[in-house]
Formats: sequence, C-alpha cells, structure tokens
Amino acid sequence: MRLARFPRRRYTPAPTPLEPLPRLSAHLGLDIWIKRDDQTGLAMGGNKTRKLEFLVADALAQGADTLVTVGAPQSNHCRLTLAAAAKEGLKCCLLLEERVPGSYEKAASGNNFLFGLIGAEAIHVVQAGTDLNDAMMTIADELLSQGRKPYLIPGGGSNPLGALGYVVCANEIVQQSNDLHVAFDHIVVASGSTGTHAGLLVGLEAAHAGVPVIGVNVRRPRAEQEANVFKLVHETADFLGVPHPDRSKVAARDEWVGPGYSLPTDEMIDAVKRFASLEGVLLDPVYTGKAAAGLIGMARRGEFAAGERVLFVHTGGAPALFAYQSLFQP
Ligand SMILES: *Cc1c(COP(=O)(O)O)cnc(C)c1O
Repeated sequence: MRLARFPRRRYTPAPTPLEPLPRLSAHLGLDIWIKRDDQTGLAMGGNKTRKLEFLVADALAQGADTLVTVGAPQSNHCRLTLAAAAKEGLKCCLLLEERVPGSYEKAASGNNFLFGLIGAEAIHVVQAGTDLNDAMMTIADELLSQGRKPYLIPGGGSNPLGALGYVVCANEIVQQSNDLHVAFDHIVVASGSTGTHAGLLVGLEAAHAGVPVIGVNVRRPRAEQEANVFKLVHETADFLGVPHPDRSKVAARDEWVGPGYSLPTDEMIDAVKRFASLEGVLLDPVYTGKAAAGLIGMARRGEFAAGERVLFVHTGGAPALFAYQSLFQP
C-alpha cells in the first residue's frame, strides 16, 4: 500500500494495546477483545487522533496557520483538533452545530471545558440544519481577508485523507492479531461521520483479513449510514489506489441509536456501567456506549455463535462523561 507516500505527523508513539476482556467475556459467553484507540496520543486520545496525523500533516505542507473544523457541542473531534493545533503552533477556530436544540452551554463540562482550556481562537455556534460547509467557508473567508491561511477539516475528519488513519489502524489490528495468534470472527465499531468505519473496511480488505466489520450507528438510519460509509469506502480506496470492498461488506446497524444523536438510552447507560465495573474501561455516552450496547444486544439476541471472538474498537470519548454525570448516578 502507498500509505508512506502521504505526509504524516506522529501523535501516538506505539501501536495502541489490543487486549482480552475476560470478565465481560464470561458475562456474555463470548471471547471479547478490545482495541484501545482511546489510548492514542493528543489530549486524552480517541479515534480522531489517527485521522489528524494525516490531515494536520497536509495542513502544514500547505503552509496553513489556522485549522477550522466543525462538531457537536461535546465534540471529541474538536478537542483533538485543538490539541493538534496547539502542539503544532497553529491557531484553531471551531464551528459548533447544536444538533440538539438549546444544547450549547458556555459553561458545560467535558469536552466543552477543554475547548477553552486548550484555547480555541473562536467558537461559532449554529443551529442544526445550517449548511456546515458554507458556514466553514464563511469563517475561512474572513480569515483569508485578514491575510491568514486557513485549512478546513470536515466534521469528524472524515474525508479520504482522514480515513487513512483507520487504514493504518486496520494494519495494526492485522499485525497484532498475527503476533498474538488470535483470529477474530467479527469487529464491532461505532459508526458516525464514517471515516473510522470506512478506513477499517478499506484497510482490512487491502490486507485480505477476511474479518467482517459491524458498524453500530450513533445518529442515522441504516440505509442512509450504509450509503454514506460506502461512498467514503469508494473514495478512500480510489485515493489510495487499492481495490474497494464491495457493498455487501458495509453493515451499519441502527437499533441502538435510540431517540437520536447524543440522546441517552437505557442500553447505553447499562453498557457504560458494565464496561466500567467489569473491566475498568471507560466508554462514552455518545459513541462507544451505544456501540457497546450494540455488542451486548447482539450477544444477547444470539447473533454471535457461542465462544466467537469479537474485537470491540474503543474509539475514545470518555471526557464527555463529565458532561453527562447525572445519568450515571447509582
Ligand atoms: C467521532 C467518534 C466516533 C465516530 O467515528 P467516525 O469516524 O466519525 O464515524 C466514535 N467514537 C468516538 C468517541 C468519537 O469521538
């Protein structure tokens, strides 16, 4: 693969751990393992760090002085983009989309607190339904008129360049699986802006890994999400010059979204508590809590054969727990 041809910054010194979860496994009658992508580098880690290695390298190659990106009020992506900007000596402007009306609170904890601490140059808040690319262009135009050099990063860092971060992760998983001599029957991952899901599919296909990936949606209905994932799969594979996996390999389950993006469900609360109390692993309320609810739900419904080996990709997000503390009181 041509990964080494793309400029890349390094924010995580070594492969993230891949480890068994024996107590959760006993509880569910499966052999569950976890890929600790909550332990990537930059401020408190998470999946966006891998995408930013490629995106920020591109920004630097283009001589940018300011990163501009977009996310929800508790965006992990915005936290990590800010951290990368700080580390590289760049400025960073955020566009926050109020996906849940009235949900932006200036004094909120969690990631929102960290936006101020790490030092966003500006935070623009817009309502759901706003054309986000347009709004980012407006911010960029204003910076340009001041003689600045903005670099736009789409929501979640999910374009073909960002998705390369998860092609890298797929390679890492294949390597660790071989080194440990542990073969996986399924991989389960949260599916949001699609870069993670699509990058994994492209990387696993290119490595001929033969492991199916089950995406668990956090926002969109199945058909819409699968179309979005497949579009980015296509674009990323073309960009990289590798064959793309076919449409039948894209699965994005929507039974655990609940009432909507970032809105809590009982299954999410149960999954977060279970991972914490059985394994000491901290999930998050918006992404990994729902993905883990999907994993537990599929196990309970008998969708996996007894003893099957399932790899759960932990994409981070625990800093948001502090903005949702009241949900988890005993
Ligand atoms: C952004 C995010 C996801 C979803 O990844 P996408 O690449 O946007 O699909 C999953 N988990 C966490 C914690 C995230 O912040």
